[in-house]
Amino acid sequence: MKFYTKFFLFCSISVAFIAFLWRGPSFNEESLKGARVLVTGASTGIGEQLSYHYARLGAQLVITARRANVLEQVVNKCLELGAQKALFIPADMANPSDAEMVVQNAIEKLGGLDFLVLNHIGPGPYEMWDGDVEHIRWLLQVNFLSYVQMAKKALPTLEKSEGSIVVVSSLLGKMCTPFTLPYTATKFALNGFFGSLQHELAMQGSNVSVTICILGLIDTETAMEKIKGYINMTAYPSHEAAWHIIEAGALRQSESFYPLYTYYATLFRDWFPYYRDLAIRNSYTYNP
Ligand code: NAP
Repeated sequence: MKFYTKFFLFCSISVAFIAFLWRGPSFNEESLKGARVLVTGASTGIGEQLSYHYARLGAQLVITARRANVLEQVVNKCLELGAQKALFIPADMANPSDAEMVVQNAIEKLGGLDFLVLNHIGPGPYEMWDGDVEHIRWLLQVNFLSYVQMAKKALPTLEKSEGSIVVVSSLLGKMCTPFTLPYTATKFALNGFFGSLQHELAMQGSNVSVTICILGLIDTETAMEKIKGYINMTAYPSHEAAWHIIEAGALRQSESFYPLYTYYATLFRDWFPYYRDLAIRNSYTYNP
């Protein structure tokens, strides 16, 4: 067989294999009926969509974010959609004591916990880094340390329920890009921490699964507002992203990618670094 034929065959089999993995098994929606779920960052965007999907599946929900009035509206809609229970706890993850308080209250209100879905992010500018170290310190608390605190607090309860931690991360936690330095740093931290935690839990024979969801650009209001004028690329629907996250968590997958290009971007990231960096820089508009 000629080299090119072999190469073509190899590529075809690889693509078929990846497609098979991507398709994966589908989860049993009934399994989430009555599941006790805590969703963070649930007042808007993907977190709001996560709450509605869990509600439709008949879960028992506690949702959190800072704005009580918005959370109340989301809770009401969750009850209309079929949630067995829906409650909210207003909290600011910039405050180190709020993270554990939310988990403690959620466990008390739900009588345990099956899914801890960590999704919130603090606001940040979309621009060249201006040297503001304090903002990075603050964002690390909101986007990273509060996730660690909540996971630590929830682990003993999740161990009993054979539950799951679901971490909503980003392709920007796998690849470096301009204009989001503090955010990117927090997402790399999340992938590093929770990826290592997966190993340690497995080595200890833990019952808890950790799912890390790698998302590409999703059409939430905040994301769309930020990238305007900087980059022109397709944004994928937040309700689909949310469904993908729920499915990955229910299937106890270790890592999950939505949309599919995030998988290929991660897979081929280090193959041609020079051209990768050139392509990244050329895809942004920058007028100093
Ligand atoms: P979003 O619309 O900006 O929502 C952020 C949520 O976090 C809101 O509910 C907000 O509610 C809450 N929040 C903000 N600051 C907080 C604080 N200090 N304490 C507690 N809660 C706080 O974000 P999104 O676009 O849906 O993103 C959700 C997740 O997907 C994030 O983890 C993000 O990194 C990931 N992701 C998104 C995209 C995308 O393109 N959208 C791409 C990749 C990954 P309050 O203002 O009421 O507090």
